[in-house]
Amino acid sequence: MNRRTFIKSAAVFVGGTSVSLAIIDFLSPPHLAALAADSTMAAEQIKVYSVEKGAYVMTEKVIKSAAEWRQLLSPEEFHVLREQGTERPFTGKYDKHYEDGTYRCAGCGLDLYSSKDKFDSGTGWPSFTAAVADENVATKDDRSLFMTRTELLCARCDGHLGHVFDDGPAPTGKRHCINSVSLKFVASM
Ligand code: FE
Repeated sequence: MNRRTFIKSAAVFVGGTSVSLAIIDFLSPPHLAALAADSTMAAEQIKVYSVEKGAYVMTEKVIKSAAEWRQLLSPEEFHVLREQGTERPFTGKYDKHYEDGTYRCAGCGLDLYSSKDKFDSGTGWPSFTAAVADENVATKDDRSLFMTRTELLCARCDGHLGHVFDDGPAPTGKRHCINSVSLKFVASM
């Protein structure tokens, strides 16, 4: 309930101006500040695909400060996921990794890529023709390093994953070029 509906419903409930004024008085800071913080902190709900459920589900966006991410991630993970870093090619643990399973976000655990869409691009980074669902990855124009590229981010925590290019194989013709550091592999049962 936001402040306005609270005041309105409280006023209707007691049916008197004097009491509703008392409620407004009650809502003066710091009470007001606490209510305002509550309403802005309600996390946005997004629709994503769950590999485990084989269906779309609603989930809350994951929003953390840089300090909170530093606590949760290794220095390498923090650099790539939160500072748009890039791991050196041919060094990542999933470059030549071909077990059956799902690659989840190393930041928030969201399902991102399936082993069935993985291919060897020869670039030294794990490469996929598609995400588990378009909804699970977000895209953003990236004009850094004197290039125009399309950045890929986790749709839930906005963690940097890599970039998408138009030189991939069939069936999509897309190449999702992803840092191993941004992923956590979970084998199929
Ligand atoms: Fe994430």
